[in-house]
Amino acid sequence: RFDASPPLLQRLLTGAGRRAVHAVEEVDFEIGRGSTFALVGESGCGKSTIARTIAGIQPPTTGAVSFMGVDISGFRTRHAALPYRRNLQMIFQDPYASLNPRWRVGRIVAEPILTHKLMTSGAALTERIAELLSVVGLSPADARKFPHQFSGGQRQRISIARALASNPAFIVCDEPTSALDVSVQAQILNLMKKLQRELGLTYLLISHNLAVVAHMADRMGVMYLGRLVEQGDAGQILERPLHPYTRLLLDTVPDPRAPNRSRARLSGEVPSPLAPPSGCAFHPRCPLANERCSREPPQPIRVGAAWVSCHAVEEGRLPSPTRENDQR
Ligand code: SF4
Ligand code: MG
Repeated sequence: RFDASPPLLQRLLTGAGRRAVHAVEEVDFEIGRGSTFALVGESGCGKSTIARTIAGIQPPTTGAVSFMGVDISGFRTRHAALPYRRNLQMIFQDPYASLNPRWRVGRIVAEPILTHKLMTSGAALTERIAELLSVVGLSPADARKFPHQFSGGQRQRISIARALASNPAFIVCDEPTSALDVSVQAQILNLMKKLQRELGLTYLLISHNLAVVAHMADRMGVMYLGRLVEQGDAGQILERPLHPYTRLLLDTVPDPRAPNRSRARLSGEVPSPLAPPSGCAFHPRCPLANERCSREPPQPIRVGAAWVSCHAVEEGRLPSPTRENDQR
């Protein structure tokens, strides 16, 4: 169960050596079974840290990752984590880097099956590999080839076949299409949607591409410097964002319906997590920042079905987006 009780909840804090770098702090979200939750934000905001923590690659220094009702961040041995790992797979940004170049595709796809002892070698395994390759749009004969013999899109199909091999419930997709040509991106995203429908998969989608998020996500969370600043229904956030950071993030994306509309600029770089700004971490870049913002970190408040961490939202001094658009 992923749903309400208990939720897929995480409170993550990562440390690097003696000087603690809090890559991610106080990030809580739930992902409903069979749905897609997208995490968006600029690079360095902590999205990949969350992906790696949930996937068990990087343990949290404190806090919990609850998966199907079990806190899985406390596993100390590979053996204890195995039943959970079977249910949770990952698709990475660069399919080539994540596929062993010396292994044939059949062996790559078989690996999770053998690791989790779902089958031993033999005719049934060969048949299962052929089935997995067909499911992702490849041919059973491709099992004998090596990764370098495929295009980028085909290699991502191989990664997806491998991710599906252990019959997982949940797949963490870290920028699954950002290394691919635009024309190929849509094919991979549509394949992912089809697989979700047919297999009831749950996705955590890490992406900085809002078009990808709009295409895929049911719910989304916006991250800034290791914190979730806004989360809620994806359609609603993309249509009517509340947090000033989300508004600027959306405004930097060209609107195909209004190509000449002047767009706001998201100025400046993401500050270093080694020296995060005081108060609201976004205040040096925020057009609505005031003295309180530089002093006091905003706490998440509920606005309709969304959660937003912003003093301006809480104080009701957020300009209405409709009025902003009229003035342009
Ligand atoms: Fe801007 Fe202040 Fe809201 Fe932070 S809390 S986003 S600085 S208005
Ligand atoms: Mg990343």
